[in-house]
Amino acid sequence: MEDLLAGALSRLDEAAKHVDVDPEVLEKLKYPKETLSVRLMVRMDDGSRRSFPAWRCRYDDTRGPTKGGIRFHPASTMEEVATLAFWMTFKCAVVNLPYGGGKGAVMVDPHSLSKSELERLSRAYVHAFAGMIGPDRDIPAPDVYTNSMIMGWMADEYSSIVRQPSPAVITGKPLALGGSLGRDDATARGGFYLLKHLEQDLDLISSAKRVVVQGFGNAGYHIARLLHEEGYRIVGLSDSRGAIANPGGIDPYAVQAVKSEGGSVLDYASRTGQARVVGEDDLLALDCEVLVPAALEDQIHKDNAGGITARVILELANGPITPEADRILDAKGAIVLPDILANAGGVTVSYFEWVQNRQGYYWTLEEIHDRLKAIMEVEGRRVWDLRASKGISMRTAAYAHGLERLSAAIAAHGTQPFFVG
Ligand code: GLU
Repeated sequence: MEDLLAGALSRLDEAAKHVDVDPEVLEKLKYPKETLSVRLMVRMDDGSRRSFPAWRCRYDDTRGPTKGGIRFHPASTMEEVATLAFWMTFKCAVVNLPYGGGKGAVMVDPHSLSKSELERLSRAYVHAFAGMIGPDRDIPAPDVYTNSMIMGWMADEYSSIVRQPSPAVITGKPLALGGSLGRDDATARGGFYLLKHLEQDLDLISSAKRVVVQGFGNAGYHIARLLHEEGYRIVGLSDSRGAIANPGGIDPYAVQAVKSEGGSVLDYASRTGQARVVGEDDLLALDCEVLVPAALEDQIHKDNAGGITARVILELANGPITPEADRILDAKGAIVLPDILANAGGVTVSYFEWVQNRQGYYWTLEEIHDRLKAIMEVEGRRVWDLRASKGISMRTAAYAHGLERLSAAIAAHGTQPFFVG
């Protein structure tokens, strides 16, 4: 996992070659500002108490309060949290939100907990990190295996600690508790707007428009649905239990119906006979134009990148491609629309939610969609143009674009030439 942060920092070094940036800026961005590591003691339904490792990292807050989700996952580590917080720092800069980057996690398999245990764990998390988070300090949100109900419990716990309603402390809340319209599908929708905006440049308009989606959680389901409605054909998809394929197309709504009853994509295939089961790496190698990694980090690596046929890769997951795999894909001429741009729709609508909470004035779904679309198109186009003008990858261009903003903010406090020059 230490490799994860090293890999992330190597992308920063690469981008720094293309931006006029003071070495002090890079020094600051190399390390997290603050990471708190705790153990949460939670009463289980059988009367026993169990302890869970948990973390929150505020990576950099130069551009504003830190922002980023909380994941509940059995493989989470402190290094993973710091890396995800680093990515959030760049993501918020790329789409110009007035935020720094943060992230949190609990090492737990949430599926092994009862609903009451999950609620106690969520409240224990806020109890432990109440001094670190806050509407002007650090604002959590959902991430892998956390959802709006968990955000609701967390907002409620924080409000009871500070003794007043404080909805802006966390985003991704249920609508009835100050959530925003459009937050549920925002990550996928942002990626969708980006892809649609670049469709012509990516040569997708008159292509076969076949799509493979890896991961069928919140981001995976919604991107499959949005692209399906737009005439794209979902030829393969997977979840944590397996992968399925059908060159004739898979109906994402029918898969979601099985998933919402606790079934998997494999159950969908066996119950309907509408898809065949394939291996994880075979899924990635299916013939398609667009591949959407929407699961976890490091899924596309040096051993499976060579088999990928997609020309366009839309990274809805955070960090799904290792630096080595990036080089393999680059050499094949594939275009990666990188996480810090492609999945920024989630945090963008989180920002809208935070603004609405602070204003006490709520926007329509149409306003949310219009504003999200405008941001994805403006920033997406800037990154696209930077890529073309410098002859670099989309990822390096996105980092360079974010770095320019971060650098301007850090340097505005004065760098060495100002003090000694
Ligand atoms: N967890 C999401 C991400 O990785 C959303 C973060 C947020 O809304 O603050 O971008």
